[in-house]
Amino acid sequence: MISYIFPNKCVCCGKIIVEKISLCDECRKRLYRIEGNICRYCGREQAYCTCKRAGNAYERNVSVFRYDGAAADAVKRFKMGKIPQISVYISNEMSMLIEREYDGISFDCVTFVPMARIKEMRRGFNHAELIAKRIADNLGMPMRPLLKRRFGFYSQKSLNSADRFKNVRGKFRAVKNVRGMTVLLIDDVITTGATLGECAGQLKSAGAAAVFGATFASTYKK
Ligand SMILES: [Zn+2]
Ligand SMILES: [Zn+2]
Repeated sequence: MISYIFPNKCVCCGKIIVEKISLCDECRKRLYRIEGNICRYCGREQAYCTCKRAGNAYERNVSVFRYDGAAADAVKRFKMGKIPQISVYISNEMSMLIEREYDGISFDCVTFVPMARIKEMRRGFNHAELIAKRIADNLGMPMRPLLKRRFGFYSQKSLNSADRFKNVRGKFRAVKNVRGMTVLLIDDVITTGATLGECAGQLKSAGAAAVFGATFASTYKK
């Protein structure tokens, strides 16, 4: 069962709103929900799918919004500070999508993409972990940190698609025995799927039977 908590500030722009809603009217108009004919692999609309089916270890990914407009603002604001309203909003939207799209799949646990330790220390929290915790609560599943990032800082930001895949190779490892488990893997944004794929691959090497991804937003080639 999903519980709804309504903040009175817009989660995307921070404007005070009187009604008990998460987004102001202006931001709602700048929200691009992924709908219609969706690629069952990357979670984008077919017309925008750039994924290579054989490339990644996860079974499927689902994503709520395009990483653009108000959804991108919400992610950026959330990364800047631990604002509970934003994590509630993001995880509720993701929980509803997961319930709908992954109906019938029985997950053993929820986990998340870990951040580089130095980045997490600087920020004070891992946004993906906070979202994963709330999603696990919403859906009544256990949340388990199953992955660790190997030491070292590296950014995917300035890299092209091929380099992103090279850059994440070997950067994660599964720290728990996940033999036979069906795992729900959470991250905030999917770009090429390289990070999600690498994490899923590690979980599978550690014995996971299946790994399904869920992200709040997907980037699109402009
Ligand atoms: Zn707003
Ligand atoms: Zn696709």
